[in-house]
Amino acid sequence: MSNLEKDPQELVCVAEPDAAGVEVLEPREVPLGGPRAIMVRRTLPQRRRSLIGAWCFVDSYGPTPAPRAGVMDTPPHPHTGLQTVSWLYEGQIEHRDSTGAHQLVDPGQVNLMTAGRGIQHSEVSTTAARTLHGVQLWTALPDSARGVAPFFEHHVAEAATVGDATLRVFVGSWLGVTSPVTAYTPLVAAELALPAGASVELPADPGFEYGLVVDGEPARLQGVEVPPHHLGVVGTGADALRIDATDGPLRVLLIGGTPLEEPIVMWWNFVGRSHDEIVALRSEWQHEVVADADRAGRFGHVEGYDGGPLPAPELPNVRLRPREHR
Ligand code: MN
Repeated sequence: MSNLEKDPQELVCVAEPDAAGVEVLEPREVPLGGPRAIMVRRTLPQRRRSLIGAWCFVDSYGPTPAPRAGVMDTPPHPHTGLQTVSWLYEGQIEHRDSTGAHQLVDPGQVNLMTAGRGIQHSEVSTTAARTLHGVQLWTALPDSARGVAPFFEHHVAEAATVGDATLRVFVGSWLGVTSPVTAYTPLVAAELALPAGASVELPADPGFEYGLVVDGEPARLQGVEVPPHHLGVVGTGADALRIDATDGPLRVLLIGGTPLEEPIVMWWNFVGRSHDEIVALRSEWQHEVVADADRAGRFGHVEGYDGGPLPAPELPNVRLRPREHR
């Protein structure tokens, strides 16, 4: 290969401080599905990066006033090939799914739903707290696990303290605390609280990629500023994560895992492996549930939700392509 440019610019090629590994990803605002949708800030997936370990989706919302039930009201909708992981900073959400699970989730607790071959669920905020504020994460299941029967887990996270920091581990193991919820690839997720001006250095697994999900206060990750509502990403190879609070007390989520080496196709609420599979899943949802034609089908039935299921959007005209790990 040769450079065919007539007048090539000189490029300064240096390992920039960010090349020590911190990517800073911007959020984008999207309406959550449903007739009375709230806006969420989505930091994953995006064009520049679609996975952190097997984490494939990060939505943050609030703080938003919750004077009535259903400020968040997501009607029954399907999932396949993934796990949903719900974590609240404030508020309360009532979960119902087609395995028969009916569970309230409060701050400090994790609701983890393994969709496997197919599930449907609804999520409605309650009036137990005046404010709703939280994060929803998804993990992509590896091919070996994406056909498992769906199930639901609820766990009250235990805390570890390191210096001034408190770490509530809700997926995986960190600092001697292990969450019992099921993971199919090596994963970790924790809420980190740090007082204003404080710093912490956490041991990291060099085989993991890590994400820092920043909320309303900026943070520094490995010395790089991550602005409010942004996602900081550290690639594999780090054996420690340094996190600094700035002027205010810091509350963030840390997620991590070994790179998912399998290409996945993600559309709406489905994770699959091909365009044809997504088309078939969409059609099954519309037939079984939206048209109420087969309650014994892949997606089962949600009891107790006041209202109908969420119809699938139209498929885009362009063919969906697998997302590859970069
Ligand atoms: Mn969902």
